[in-house]
Amino acid sequence: MHKLDEIAEKVKTCKNCELCETRTKAVPGKGRFDADVIFVGEAPGRNEDVHGEPFVGAAGKRLDMILENTGIKREDVYITNIVKCRPPKNRVPTKKEEKSCNDFINKEIEIINPKIICVMGIFVTFHPAATIYNQKLVDELKEDFKKLAKFLGEEEEVKQYEDRRCDFCMSKTSHEVVVVPKVVTRKRRWLYKCTECNHERWLVPYRTVAESLY
Ligand code: URA
Repeated sequence: MHKLDEIAEKVKTCKNCELCETRTKAVPGKGRFDADVIFVGEAPGRNEDVHGEPFVGAAGKRLDMILENTGIKREDVYITNIVKCRPPKNRVPTKKEEKSCNDFINKEIEIINPKIICVMGIFVTFHPAATIYNQKLVDELKEDFKKLAKFLGEEEEVKQYEDRRCDFCMSKTSHEVVVVPKVVTRKRRWLYKCTECNHERWLVPYRTVAESLY
């Protein structure tokens, strides 16, 4: 028996958390043991719970369509979930449930040793440390966080911060940027408030913020 089949058998009879009491079938990963790519979902839904296979419901059909569209065959990849049993009413799995399943996903990754792990439905961005020497990545990280804020519906409440040299305390600091929605004397204006010394200054931007950094 292949090591992945052994894991699948363990998944099917797993009683590590309380999800085993509400599941119909546990859902082990499925696909090639030597796949270059692993697709990882969060947890099975209703159809997966009935059939004991990952991504066979509506989301699975979408995935099939997209794979087909890009010329990737489902039988050439490996598809699995972080949590192997359906949480009741498709609720988000708890940390405890994720932890109970950790061993399975870690072993699947170790055995398959894929070139790419495609984690679906989870927001991934750069590590902030990656942006320290690369201004382009800083901008991309900010864009990602704006998307995240928008998704969370908190766009209006999100404050924006820009790194500039404060005109008052002259230290390199972060300014809270208040974008004024109105056009003031036909020019858009930004209100910068130094987060160090609280100095405020109106700015009519004629240079990009990146240019005014140095
Ligand atoms: N969504 C997931 O995250 N996993 C599945 O198996 C099906 C839908």
